[in-house]
Amino acid sequence: MTLLGKGFGRLDDAEVIVKQANVPVAEFEAYSADVTAYIGRDHKMFIAGEWRHAVEGKTLPVFDPATGNEHGHIPAGGPMDIDLAVDAARRAFESPEWSRMKPADRQQLMLNLADLVEKNFDELVELETRDNGKPIGESQIDVNGVAGLMRYMAGWATKIDGRTTNVSVPGDHFAYTTKEPVGVVGAIIPWNFPLGMASWKIVPALVTGCTIVLKPAEQTSLSVLRLAELAEEVGFPKGVLNVVTGTGTSAGAALASHPGIDKIAFTGSTGIGRTIAHAAADTLARVTLELGGKSPVIVLADSDTAAAAQGAAGAIFFNQGQVCTAGSRLYVHQDIYDEVIADVAAIADGIRLAPGVAPGCQMGPLISSEQQVRVEDYIDIGISEGASVATSADSKPDAGFFVRPTVLADTSDEMRVVNEEIFGPVLVAAPFKDETAVIEVANASNFGLSASIWSNDLRKVHRMVPRIRAGIVWVNTHNPVDPSLPFGGVKHSGYGRELGPEQLDAYLETKSVWMSY
Ligand code: ADP
Ligand code: MG
Repeated sequence: MTLLGKGFGRLDDAEVIVKQANVPVAEFEAYSADVTAYIGRDHKMFIAGEWRHAVEGKTLPVFDPATGNEHGHIPAGGPMDIDLAVDAARRAFESPEWSRMKPADRQQLMLNLADLVEKNFDELVELETRDNGKPIGESQIDVNGVAGLMRYMAGWATKIDGRTTNVSVPGDHFAYTTKEPVGVVGAIIPWNFPLGMASWKIVPALVTGCTIVLKPAEQTSLSVLRLAELAEEVGFPKGVLNVVTGTGTSAGAALASHPGIDKIAFTGSTGIGRTIAHAAADTLARVTLELGGKSPVIVLADSDTAAAAQGAAGAIFFNQGQVCTAGSRLYVHQDIYDEVIADVAAIADGIRLAPGVAPGCQMGPLISSEQQVRVEDYIDIGISEGASVATSADSKPDAGFFVRPTVLADTSDEMRVVNEEIFGPVLVAAPFKDETAVIEVANASNFGLSASIWSNDLRKVHRMVPRIRAGIVWVNTHNPVDPSLPFGGVKHSGYGRELGPEQLDAYLETKSVWMSY
């Protein structure tokens, strides 16, 4: 019952919005008893291979975004829990059981974990939807992606090699390099892809032989705790993976500043990314940051306008717009601007908002009431700044954190809605007159995560790609992700790359070895 096959999820433009209507949600037992029971459990954190409450015994409520009701509790971990977890991760890192484990055995453990993810596919999908709010079809893409990443990265465990080199210093030397795991990783992730982001941190860490303390977002820790159960079942040695739940200011800050952490991997907002980089300045932990975006979608005059409109809608509305690479700024050539904006607005107005598990749901709720208020405020700000609202539908469920997809047209460069990341289903749109002008506005952002170009003219595309300051450029698509291709940004979108062989470097140190003979 997978949406897009067994490969890594392809989050492809039009497909996502349109095909969601065909997601086989009917096969789903909405609100299944097992998942309900799991959500309502007395949850514990996974530290040193044991399941434990927070040292201080406190908990945090978690909410069902589709109803706004509290549906469970997680431990409110803090600095003392982080201490225990980092200590456990250090001991595991140094244990012969893990440090001397053969690469092929690490590979096998990761493949076994992928098997277990697939075996528990339906449960993980429903859990993700009920905790995060996203449509079932999107959770299917996510969980497929998790298993796909595990399988791709598992193979790298056996392919981490050094090299030999011919040194020129006097005497006889044999010299070579080895790659060693960086050590204990502290990972902090957001709520938009809870399992996906967890896998982007856990998988490279364990494949390279590191150990990890992961702090999921406080809004969406439930599926990550379930993933830790699966890792336990697979048999990773105790302390290799630790999950500490809690708030950013308590557990997150303690993890980011912990002197026992060798590398921090963070995905989240640019503001908190800065805070983390500051903390790492003291400990000199290595850091990778995957932060915000305000990605331009550039539609050239020669493009297939219907496909471009569909793609532009998918680029922003996928995952309720809560995507760091969301195509949140639409620039359309002036000759086709009116037509494309009308099409995108019509697609937006046709999107059916419903709880993620509901049959026919095309867009779920946002993650939280805070996020709902924030996004609605941005819509008001855009209107007061002079944008015109191209969308008009107003139907949405009464309860829950829903926001209708909104297109703010005729925006201008200085508006806040054009410059700030909204992280919701709000698109800003403006016309452009030529290639040079659009490159200039596309690059006139503090962010530089991604961009897409829609055109049938390869000469133009090849001219434009190198001029765009972004870590990812898509052409005639937006948002696909594959484990073989690096992901990450420039400027205030952060530094370092995830996925692909490039990601491994962030989890490895190089040792140079000299032998004089
Ligand atoms: P958002 O505000 O959209 O939730 P954040 O960047 O604040 O995005 O959150 C991403 C992750 O960072 C979450 O796991 C959150 O708990 C964590 N976080 C928030 N504040 C801090 C902080 N000061 N130090 C470390 N982690 C933090
Ligand atoms: Mg925050």
